Amino acid sequence: MHETALMAGVFDVIEKHTADLTVQRVTKVILVVGEMTNAMPDALEAVFTVFAHGTKVEGAELQIRMIPLTARCTECEWEGSIEQHVFICPHCSSLGLEIKSGRELYVESLEVE
Ligand SMILES: [Zn+2]
Repeated sequence: MHETALMAGVFDVIEKHTADLTVQRVTKVILVVGEMTNAMPDALEAVFTVFAHGTKVEGAELQIRMIPLTARCTECEWEGSIEQHVFICPHCSSLGLEIKSGRELYVESLEVE
């Protein structure tokens, strides 16, 4: 599953940040997920639980902040959200769209004890 690979990367980051022995456990993880990653929040949560099992992250609350896919047209300067992954400018039909947001996948914050 796609989300497993994404979550493996997330847990690498979490482990680096919680390697310190003063960190007993992680209570909350806020994850920023761009629409372009095609990750489903439900699947991410399920995979998160699996990865967290037996680690400092077990029992932590996972909060997912989805970032919509937006782009800017390099021809007419149109800016807006992209529906259905159709990369054609709705204003001038140009294919020269530049992705502005939606590729994100990172840990925004960690709460630890
Ligand atoms: Zn355009």
